[in-house]
Amino acid sequence: MRDPRYDILFEPVQIGPVTAKNRFYQVPHCNGGGYRDPSAAAAMRGMKAEGGWGVIFTEQTEMHHSSEITPYIELRLWEDQDIPMFARMAEAMKSHGALAGIQLAYSGVNGPNLYTREVPLAVSPQPVRTFTPDPVQARGMDKSDIRDLRRWFVNAAKRAKLAGFDLICLYGAHGFGIFQHFLSSITNHRSDEYGGSLENRARFANEVVADIRDAVGDTMGLTMRVSLDESLGALGFSNAELREFIEMNRNLPDLWDLAHGTWEDCSGPSRFKEEAAQEALVQGIREMTDRPVVGVGRFTSPDVMARLVRAGTLDFIGAARPSIADPFLPAKVEQGRIEDIRECIGCNICITGDMTMSLSRCTQNPTFMEEWRKGWHPEKISKRGDSDTVLVVGSGPAGLEAALACANRGYDVALAEAGTSIGGRVARERNLPGLSAWGRVADYREYQLSQKPNVETYFDSALDASQILEFGFQNICIATGARWRGDGVARQHVTPVEIDPNMSVFTPDDLMDGRLPSGHVVLYDDDHYYMGGVLAELLVQQGCQVTLVTPAPMVSQWAVNTLEQHEIQRRLLEMGVAVRANAGLIKVNSGDIEMNCSYTDRRESIGCDAVVMVDSKLENSGVFRDLKSQEESWADSGIRSVKIIGDANAPGPIAWATYAGHRYARELDAPDLGDALPFRREIAGLAPQ
Ligand code: ADP
Ligand code: SF4
Repeated sequence: MRDPRYDILFEPVQIGPVTAKNRFYQVPHCNGGGYRDPSAAAAMRGMKAEGGWGVIFTEQTEMHHSSEITPYIELRLWEDQDIPMFARMAEAMKSHGALAGIQLAYSGVNGPNLYTREVPLAVSPQPVRTFTPDPVQARGMDKSDIRDLRRWFVNAAKRAKLAGFDLICLYGAHGFGIFQHFLSSITNHRSDEYGGSLENRARFANEVVADIRDAVGDTMGLTMRVSLDESLGALGFSNAELREFIEMNRNLPDLWDLAHGTWEDCSGPSRFKEEAAQEALVQGIREMTDRPVVGVGRFTSPDVMARLVRAGTLDFIGAARPSIADPFLPAKVEQGRIEDIRECIGCNICITGDMTMSLSRCTQNPTFMEEWRKGWHPEKISKRGDSDTVLVVGSGPAGLEAALACANRGYDVALAEAGTSIGGRVARERNLPGLSAWGRVADYREYQLSQKPNVETYFDSALDASQILEFGFQNICIATGARWRGDGVARQHVTPVEIDPNMSVFTPDDLMDGRLPSGHVVLYDDDHYYMGGVLAELLVQQGCQVTLVTPAPMVSQWAVNTLEQHEIQRRLLEMGVAVRANAGLIKVNSGDIEMNCSYTDRRESIGCDAVVMVDSKLENSGVFRDLKSQEESWADSGIRSVKIIGDANAPGPIAWATYAGHRYARELDAPDLGDALPFRREIAGLAPQ
């Protein structure tokens, strides 16, 4: 059972009039579902309740229609008819004794109001500050607007109480919440009693807290999410100023929630930030207040958590991503099952669900946001169906997850791997600069598989169709992955680029296998996710002079969605990588390449010693196709099903592969759904005409 070292994490802690059963605190986090998929979001929160979290929050809730962040999909509490949706969520959160929290956001200068068409109201008149620089300016609030806004907060608090919440978080971090906008001189240029001195800038926060406390403070705890550091130079709300603010207002909320000035800083990926990266910014704040303090830092290690509580740095261990990767993290600590924790790898794929307004996924937890849609539970899976045996070919993320989930269902599983190590692409990519934490995808599953009596793993086993037909497994899962093309075919080119055979051309696979170029290397990136940027870094580390050529306007463009793009490009520029954006590749000659401008097609040559092609991938689907062509002999071999999954089916990010593996196992021996939709979907009710 529980290791006594972690007892401290299970102490109850009071937050105003309510008490959390332990110190595990799921801070507000988006999920891409929000108001469009409220039941899916509620079921996801309910899973955290079951997993033992003491406090569970919603994502940011737009609390008045005059401030919203379309196109991003969060929650909306605009009128009474929204209350039932929130009641469903609060009920799910409280189902196992957790406190249910709602985060109230007034987006101010961060809300372009593209949906409501209301003129945005901000602390001071300014162009809106959003991810997409919308051509919209916000009007500065006058005194009557401020009075209105105070009333709107009270209205929202009352609705939150009716919905059954225990806690309200006032959002003032990440650049997204009005409390930060009042506090920071970047967004507060007022000359009245709400601007200027810190005392004046803190006035609004004091007023709203007092108003809400009057209205609902007898039963609800009030938390304030503040920015640890805006890192925006002299005008920004710095860590020193935050400390001054807390010292001046030591017991303002019932709990201080310490987040960062920007979301990018707060949700730093493992590539750039370690666990507990904010420790220095948080240290000592707890001594300035009598109220409990929560902080985040991609905490997955109970030792780190216990240390921070014991040291008096934090009262609550805040977590968003670690709670997504493993909603049962507290339960596993409680049960002494530390090695079963599915640790977040810090890839930020979950954030892309919000950034692309789709639905969040998690690389480590394929059941995330499928709890309601597909009825997937992160820790439970149905018993096996009619058949008994599964052969999984390939031990990349797809094959590993398929093998593990099939084993959990009770199938006898054989996992065949052509190479000598587990992990497929992860086994190689984890050695690239900054990606070591991604190895957890393989490590977690390797350990879990090693604990299963019904799984055998075979290395050095590059199987072909005839061997597979001979073995006599009932179900065959082909997860043989993909390899980089190297011929330039991706988005700019749909047919291979002309390449002089005298030029050394490398693929990402070559580099990962240790075959490295030297001298001046042109890296052509028409993939646009992490690989181009990571390999440029590797090449510089190896002493190459690197020019990165990309048809996109920036390096690793899709990494905008993982909140990494800025840091990737900054790092490459600081390392001396020459970046040629908006530039394509026309031809590879023996000592140079020919480039074109993406807009004008103007041509230019760059002399170089080698070219690295980060283009697209080709599926390793040969074994599958061979098996398919012998379908008539399957029955004689005892084969009931053959499926291809993951990169071998269609290459994509690692999260797509773990999802495919999990889905394979869930659907094995399940009835064929035919043309039916494979998930539940929520449709907004039609209003009366
Ligand atoms: P995915 O992301 O879909 O899991 P990966 O490329 O990460 O795909 O992993 C595929 C794995 O399959 C690699 O480890 C590779 O060595 C292995 N593999 C490929 N072909 C075969 C084969 N014919 N037999 C056994 N293993 C294979
Ligand atoms: Fe962690 Fe990646 Fe899962 Fe997000 S998607 S919770 S960063 S493992």
